[in-house]
Parts: sequence; structure tokens; C-alpha cells
Amino acid sequence: MNRVAIARCENYEEESVASALTEVLDASAFPDCRGKTILVKPNILSDSRPEAGITTHPAVVEALIRECFRRGAAKVYAGDSPGLHTPSFRGRHCGIAGVCEKTGAIWVDFTQNTRTFQLEGGVKVQLPAVLDEVDFTISAAKFKTHQLMYTTGTVKNMFGLMPGLTKSPTHLRYPSRSAFASFINRLFKAAKVKYALMDAVIGMEGPGPANGTLRYVGYLIGGQNAYLADTAEAVIMGYEPEDIPILQSSGMALKPHYSLLDAEDLVIKDFRKIEIEKPKGLFSSLVLPFLTRSHDRKETKKRPAPQFEEDRCIHCLRCVQICPAKALVHDNVIRIDTDVCIRCYCCAEMCPADAIRVGEH
Ligand code: SF4
Ligand code: SF4
Repeated sequence: MNRVAIARCENYEEESVASALTEVLDASAFPDCRGKTILVKPNILSDSRPEAGITTHPAVVEALIRECFRRGAAKVYAGDSPGLHTPSFRGRHCGIAGVCEKTGAIWVDFTQNTRTFQLEGGVKVQLPAVLDEVDFTISAAKFKTHQLMYTTGTVKNMFGLMPGLTKSPTHLRYPSRSAFASFINRLFKAAKVKYALMDAVIGMEGPGPANGTLRYVGYLIGGQNAYLADTAEAVIMGYEPEDIPILQSSGMALKPHYSLLDAEDLVIKDFRKIEIEKPKGLFSSLVLPFLTRSHDRKETKKRPAPQFEEDRCIHCLRCVQICPAKALVHDNVIRIDTDVCIRCYCCAEMCPADAIRVGEH
């Protein structure tokens, strides 16, 4: 189904969210929940407070879970796994643990009870076994820019299914934007997503997904087709859908049919996007993703390396822990080996002190 619904949602007050969500779900053929077991997957990139605008707002997740139960769901799970997933992680600060307590949803720890899934193309990954139990997944993402993928949408949100640091090596294995996008698309197919919802009430512009600035957008976006929901996000941000590697590599850069509001009318003209690195012709976009990893790595060197701001650093060492390429050492200050760095920007995503810059911002 090619329909994406966009509804105005002025703020995160319970009534505003519930009414906008009902509009969106009714206008976009929300799946039948009766008797179903559902996984709701919010974006909890880091367990920060909702006001930071990094995570899917708990008011949206709560309204969504309540709606699943109201429509007859038998059981709802909720969970996510940030890169640095500690054993006690339950989404307390971002409010999702509280949402589970209030609604009766069951928090699921993605690092516990995993199994090997074989993705299209033969690659094997560890994913939470709860995927075997659920009838379908709902991706509940956040409207944000992303240094590597330009946008962080409902498809990319499924990367959080991979438990904790198991995500890191995939950046090493698929260092170019196109190869990583192709991997995300294969992972998405295993995630059983039947509905995609995006919290676009307060979004993030500039150097997202963690260090950008908040931008009032004022919508909820939803649809059965996650790629088309992400197309709406891209269009509102001012991108061409085919600029977004995940949409391009999926072959889903299609024009959706919009119900309620049309994304073309909602473009934020001064939205601070991540600058697009244009592939040079058909060869680059269609053939490069299948070339060798060493060629892929050379491609990464064309992107800016992160820069570390000593005066902001609080020496938490999260960047050193998350870096898949082992390009960082802490020697009173953080030092980077730019020859080794693959420009995945995981360090910037994880830095709690906004001490890592990428490009000109
Ligand atoms: S230094 Fe940062 S951008 Fe470079 S590889 Fe490590 S985590 Fe990725
Ligand atoms: S993550 Fe940020 S604050 Fe922590 S050590 Fe690295 S640069 Fe410093």
C-alpha cells in the first residue's frame, strides 16, 4: 500500500498525541491487532531524557501501545538496544520503561535470548528471539538527520534490533554509505515490520542523530510501508528521496500517496540538512556497493573525519569503546588515527558531551 498519513500534532500533551495518532492510523490502514503479539520498537539511541529530542518521545510510544491494546492486541513488547547497552538498561531516562509500566507492555532486553538469523545474501546476524514470537513489529522512529545515512527513519530504526556492540562490526564490514544502506535493507526484511510511525513533533536538524539541534516540525507520520514513511520525512527535510542511500538501495524511492497532509506542501525550506555526498554517476550508485571492501574503505576517506573538542570532553571513553575501527586512543585527550577511521560517526552519536564535530556545523 502506497499511502502515508501525516497529521498535525502540536505538542506532546496526551490529548494532542492521541488525537493525531488516531487520525494517522485510521487514514493509513493500521494492521489488524486482534489477538496479535506485537513488538513496538522505539528509537532509544541513548537513554537520554525526552527533552533532548534524541529518542522517540514516550508520549507517542504510550499512545501507540494503548492503541494496539484498544484494537485487541494480546501482548505488546517494547525494546531497543543502544550501542553501549549496559546490563541494567531498561529505557528509564527516556521514559519508555515508565510507558511499559503504565500500559502493561513488556520490556524486552535485546541482548538476552538471541539467535542467529540469516539475512538475504547469506550474512548472519544475532537478533532477539522475540522476533520469532511476535506476529509483527511496529517501527516507532524519530524525525532526525543522520551523519552517515542523512536521515534516521523507520527503516534504519531496525538497526537497534542488533544487540549492543554487535552493531559495531557491521560498520567495518560495510563502510560505504551504499553498502551500509544495503545491509540495513536486508536487516529490515528480517524485522517483520508491518507498520511504521514517526514522531515528527519535535525533530532534529544539523548534525544528528544525537548532536543536532531541536526543530519544531509538528507532525506524526505513519504508514504500512516504512520506506514511504521515510520518503515523507526526507521530503519534509528538503531532500530528494533518491538522495537517501536506504531509499535508493531499496528501489523504494517511490512517490507515496499522502492522506491528510501532503509532504510536498510541508517542506521546511531552511531545514539544516546533512550535505549530500553525490555518487558520481550510475557506476557509483549501482556497481560500487558490490565492489571489494578495500575499495569501499577508500570511499570513506572522502568523508570528513570527526574532530574532538578537548575543552568539552568529559573523558567518559564511550567513543573509544564504540569505535569499530579501533581508531581512537585516550592519552589524557582523545586522539584519532584518521588513516584507520572509517567515518562511521558512531563516536559522535555516543558522545554525551557534544565534544565531537563532523564537518562544518
Ligand atoms: S573514530 Fe569515530 S568515525 Fe572514526 S571509525 Fe571510530 S567511531 Fe567511526
Ligand atoms: S565520548 Fe565525548 S566526552 Fe566521552 S571521551 Fe569521547 S569525546 Fe570525550
